[in-house]
Amino acid sequence: MGEWVEGIWEWKLEWVRELRERDLFHVNELLSLIDNVSLTPGKIDGWKWKASPNSSFSVNSAYKVMCRDSRSKTQSNKGLEFQYIWKAAAPHKAKFSAWRILKDRMATCENLIRRQVSIPNAESICVFCRSQQEDTNHLFFICQRTSEAWYDILSWLGLQAVLPSSAKDHFLAFTSLGNKRDTKLLRNVWICMVWCI
Ligand SMILES: [Zn+2]
Repeated sequence: MGEWVEGIWEWKLEWVRELRERDLFHVNELLSLIDNVSLTPGKIDGWKWKASPNSSFSVNSAYKVMCRDSRSKTQSNKGLEFQYIWKAAAPHKAKFSAWRILKDRMATCENLIRRQVSIPNAESICVFCRSQQEDTNHLFFICQRTSEAWYDILSWLGLQAVLPSSAKDHFLAFTSLGNKRDTKLLRNVWICMVWCI
């Protein structure tokens, strides 16, 4: 896990399998989160979940933290889309993917490069069209291949619209098409679509 080197704690993380190139994104994210943790030599540390009074983790308390976080962002409507995502009647894996897309946390080539993961230029292009750099908006909404899929879905639903190119605007535009009673259905369709992509 780590060791003291001349009074300074150095993390030495070990993994049960060899890391793939894309795992480095998550490792860097983890390291950036634990980088500011100050440890005391000779003192045994332990796990503590701050969101519940008895310090033990529960899904219920994690859900409350996310809702609270989302509610605080909904003043002036910021973050409203995250509430819609978590409340949708879609598979949890799909909702998690949608949430990561809206937060731009997917391990796209652009995000990996931003995290100093070395990717050769030839491999940083979109896996679908092989002509543009792979970033979240391109991969899920702008690329000709995925954009066609979105318009096919619109046509299948009997709807017409010009869809925006950024994740949040795309979600809000797509889910406000049709009648008000269709909104929940359209949210589920959007979540499942990005999951399938
Ligand atoms: Zn593309």
